[in-house]
Amino acid sequence: MNNQIPNVTLNNGVKIPQLGLGVFLVKDANELKQSIKWALAADYRHIDTAMIYENETAVGEAIKESNLDRKDLFITSKLWNSDHGYEETKAAFNASLKRLGVDYLDMYLIHWPSPNYIESWKAMEELYHAGKIRAIGVSNFQIHHLEDLMAHTDVVPVVNQIETHPYFQQKGLHDFMAKHNIAHEAWGPLGQGKGNVLNDPTLTELAKKHTKSTAQIILRWHVQRDEIVIPKSIHENRIQQNRDIFDFSLSDEEMAKIAAIDKNQRGSRSPDDTEWLEKTAKK
Ligand code: NAD
Repeated sequence: MNNQIPNVTLNNGVKIPQLGLGVFLVKDANELKQSIKWALAADYRHIDTAMIYENETAVGEAIKESNLDRKDLFITSKLWNSDHGYEETKAAFNASLKRLGVDYLDMYLIHWPSPNYIESWKAMEELYHAGKIRAIGVSNFQIHHLEDLMAHTDVVPVVNQIETHPYFQQKGLHDFMAKHNIAHEAWGPLGQGKGNVLNDPTLTELAKKHTKSTAQIILRWHVQRDEIVIPKSIHENRIQQNRDIFDFSLSDEEMAKIAAIDKNQRGSRSPDDTEWLEKTAKK
């Protein structure tokens, strides 16, 4: 095993590095730029941001300062709930491009299934066909949202980015997405520091056995489920550690042990919380 970060081929042929850096809640520009520098030095090439994280400008500066070729980076951003609608989506996308200082995005996602996501998707399809986005996808979509989207539009999302960790494994949605060739991208892959998943005894025992950290066992479990992972850290040692997961593997028996600790325990809000979706959709 060569320990390089592999690519996953999306349903439109575009390749995405299976591991990227998440930057949710990193609002301090210097801290963010330093984290991205460490990540790029550790061979990360994939960064996951969103308009609502209020850090696209700093991500753009970090990209520029890296002097890497744009084509060697994979940048994702997301359409926020209050920007839904056909014209609104195009305007929000262009504003993200501007803040990031780039002329195309590798991936653009609908952040949550807020009212009017079909109209937004139609605008994203046009931006995709015009070459402004290499791959379009969704986030926090349940099976019924995906069915609705696929029934009313042409392009099947490349990914669905959803909360996933050993205490919330999303088995039903995972299988549905595999059947429809929609890649599973895990947000909160380490449980976001909630629910104490990093101290789970099954995971800490596996960590000891493989001389890896619990975080590495969890991330390895994700990649062996064919998920794309975007763990967040602002610490150099953790950024390095989180990418150091391609030089060992978990056996089928070990994967089954982790499957058995699922608690179906969501750490964040439900995508079926329509009251919240409607509230955040307001300008
Ligand atoms: P995460 O599961 O990646 O947890 C991050 C936390 O885990 C860090 O703050 C740190 O405290 C800890 N951590 C990181 N590496 C560690 C290590 N090696 N050992 C011990 N602890 C470690 O949670 P997240 O940041 O919420 O999710 C990852 C990314 O997913 C985000 O940064 C963001 O890009 C994306 N995200 C998307 C959505 C969405 O709705 N689409 C929601 C939340 C997050």
